[in-house]
Amino acid sequence: MATSPLDSTSTRHERAGLTSAQLDALRKLLETDRATLSGHALVFVDEHGQIDLTSATHGQGETEHTAIDIERRVNDVLEANTRDALAEITSALRRMDEGRYGLCQDCGSPLPGERLVAMPAARFCVGCQTRHDIRR
Ligand SMILES: [Zn+2]
Repeated sequence: MATSPLDSTSTRHERAGLTSAQLDALRKLLETDRATLSGHALVFVDEHGQIDLTSATHGQGETEHTAIDIERRVNDVLEANTRDALAEITSALRRMDEGRYGLCQDCGSPLPGERLVAMPAARFCVGCQTRHDIRR
């Protein structure tokens, strides 16, 4: 993959404490996650209600109605989570293209490398994330 020779973005990325190699690795992580999640999302769209979730209900003593009801609810939750995760990843990749990746979207301080490795789509520093979680 070709490296981006844009001086302005690499300067800003340096401010975020990320080398271009780290950035490349994180981008690959995000792109892999996005591909995986996109595949899952397609399954939900194309085969809604067809997914084998019998293990979730153990198939024991469940009426058909209950099984379907549970399956639908599980799918709803999974779909919502997948959509959220995909939106986060897409947003992270966009920030990467714009040279704003790795900076807290609230206070602008650089996110620690270990936080980004654990959560490549992270958009807030730990302090701001905590505030958001409390507000939520
Ligand atoms: Zn912050």
